[in-house]
Amino acid sequence: MSAPISASAAPAAFANENGRRQILVTSALPYANGQIHIGHMVEYIQTDIWVRALRMHGHEVYYVGADDTHGTPVMLCAEKEGITPKALIERVWKEHKRDFDSFGISFDNYYSTDAEENRVLCDSIYTSLQQAGLIDARDIEQAYDPVKEMFLPDRFIKGQCPKCGAQDQYGDNCEVCGSTYQPTELINPYSVVSGATPIRKTSTHYFFRLSDPRCEEFLRGWVSGLAQPEATNKMREWLGDKGEAKLADWDISRDAPYFGFEIPGAPGKYFYVWVDAPVGYYASFMNLAECIGLDFAAWVKLGSKAEQYHFIGKDILYFHTLFWPAMLEFSGHRTPTNVFAHGFLTVDGAKMSKSRGTFITAQSVIDTGLNPEWLRYYFAAKLNSTMEDIDLNLEDFQARVNSDLVGKYVNIASRAAGFLIKRFDGRVQDSAMNHPLLEQLRATVPHIAGFYEAREYGRALRTTMELADVVNGYVDTAKPWEQAKDPANAAALHETCSVSLEAFRLLSLALKPVLPKLVESVESFLGIAPLVWADAAKPLSSASPINAYKHLTTRVDPKQIEVLLAANRESLQPGAEAAAPAATAKKEAKPKQDEPDVISIDDFAKVDLRVAKIVDCKAVEGSDKLLQLTLDIGEEKTRNVFSGIKSAYQPQDLIGKLTVMVANLAPRKMKFGLSEGMVPRPTRRPSRVSTFWSRIAARNRECA
Ligand SMILES: [Zn+2]
Repeated sequence: MSAPISASAAPAAFANENGRRQILVTSALPYANGQIHIGHMVEYIQTDIWVRALRMHGHEVYYVGADDTHGTPVMLCAEKEGITPKALIERVWKEHKRDFDSFGISFDNYYSTDAEENRVLCDSIYTSLQQAGLIDARDIEQAYDPVKEMFLPDRFIKGQCPKCGAQDQYGDNCEVCGSTYQPTELINPYSVVSGATPIRKTSTHYFFRLSDPRCEEFLRGWVSGLAQPEATNKMREWLGDKGEAKLADWDISRDAPYFGFEIPGAPGKYFYVWVDAPVGYYASFMNLAECIGLDFAAWVKLGSKAEQYHFIGKDILYFHTLFWPAMLEFSGHRTPTNVFAHGFLTVDGAKMSKSRGTFITAQSVIDTGLNPEWLRYYFAAKLNSTMEDIDLNLEDFQARVNSDLVGKYVNIASRAAGFLIKRFDGRVQDSAMNHPLLEQLRATVPHIAGFYEAREYGRALRTTMELADVVNGYVDTAKPWEQAKDPANAAALHETCSVSLEAFRLLSLALKPVLPKLVESVESFLGIAPLVWADAAKPLSSASPINAYKHLTTRVDPKQIEVLLAANRESLQPGAEAAAPAATAKKEAKPKQDEPDVISIDDFAKVDLRVAKIVDCKAVEGSDKLLQLTLDIGEEKTRNVFSGIKSAYQPQDLIGKLTVMVANLAPRKMKFGLSEGMVPRPTRRPSRVSTFWSRIAARNRECA
């Protein structure tokens, strides 16, 4: 569990004399070959909440991002579509930007790694590393596709597993038996791109000498400043004990054809996508700096007073805690102040799945009419500063949004605003602004701000909702609806409504980093300027009346969730291209898989296999293949199943026997009636299923 957090965990060392810090923040760059899904969104929402919370202190904060556009997958993806890589990345950029805007991700600049600033920065960082003696050129032998005339990344070679013989396995590991091996060990290897047999070919590659003692020494020092103990441990593991020299040199070049930047002085050689992706953070910031007249160099130079933070998924820690800081250190730049890694998203306790419709694209959330701020709220409620995975439980999602946001929070305003407008000209009672309840809230707001900065969002929201409970308790005790009945209670009623509304303003302040849009409507309803943390001490005043109360948010309708899941399931139908998992780590993404003669564990997990008792079995009139089975699987009703096993069994022999059935197969209407499941059939070819079937048969014989 997380350690206790002080209210202001901020490294104040860098703040200037008036306490204003300069802060550059990034999220990992999404890869430009697929849609943004809600798994990606966790990271952007996490970063955005942090950025907004820091901006509310008045710090100078810049949040930049970009599409990660280079590499083999984008090149091949564009080729498959018959368009240029540039056309592809332009289209995907627009889609990504649209999704980020919809979810309120407040990038100060959203750029592309395929930009001139990035080329310039890559060249200069590379040249500096070269001058520092940290770049090596070495000849290496690699798999090459003689038809496509390109070198093949491991993931683009398939063949038979050398250990278990399974067909169509990738060049680096077998998904059937789990072995890892070299692509050269594959039996009958073939190129996924052309189908040709790869040949071995020698080529010169460029390496960043991470094994150099200078790099090791620097990284050992740098790791001690990491915020997350898990990250520190992981890095120490990679670094090994002093003098152990565990770091391997990093291959940073790829041969043409490649979509990317050519390496200066090395025609036909390109920077590997993982070189220009992190540099893309700086390129995006450089572009922003040019636009708004900021001194870019002052922010990124060695010894800069600015702070720099990278939010990433835990799967790309290696790139951000080894390569990236070392690249910066030895090219004369400042190094990251910290790297914050988060866990992955599961939906209803399982990996996001296209067949269950839980591989939810950002766009589908918008199309379904679900308010993206609900997801922001839910994710925030689950997020903390660790790398633990978080789960989106769809039932809990509805319950929590409805109970917290509507039941506890918005409800306070709707209860108080009506009386205040009708009875008191929309003006609060100034003397009520010192009520002890409000003092309690004001004293807690700085702690909540501290929780946000410490990335303990769950704690920030729990604290906020506890306060909302206290406020609701206050209203329930004061009973404004009773007070309103007797004109003699006017002053008391005025106080109740004023305290409630000021409390609502303070709760809105606490929720603002998570619910920026909703709080914007609150600000216009209360007739106040955009809220910042310092406003905790500036109560509502009778001098400026509130505006008419308008509905602030609605409940989650369970139907919307059904529609959402259906929409994402539909994208699986043949013909419609499924949402590609554009995880930042999947640069050498798996090419589309051919259907092998095996199923994955995920496929298997979908099958609901039950032991069934055959309570009745008869021949089907008019069919020479089918038997009609009545199966008892412990449900209220028996299941009717038609199975083409007549040639193998006499109906009366099966009655009373046990079999296995697939219980969650969609019912199928047949000529003879509805079939509600499937039982194994004996096959000529021995398979696991028929072996299972004969074992069951043997067991039945024993029983009989
Ligand atoms: Zn294998």
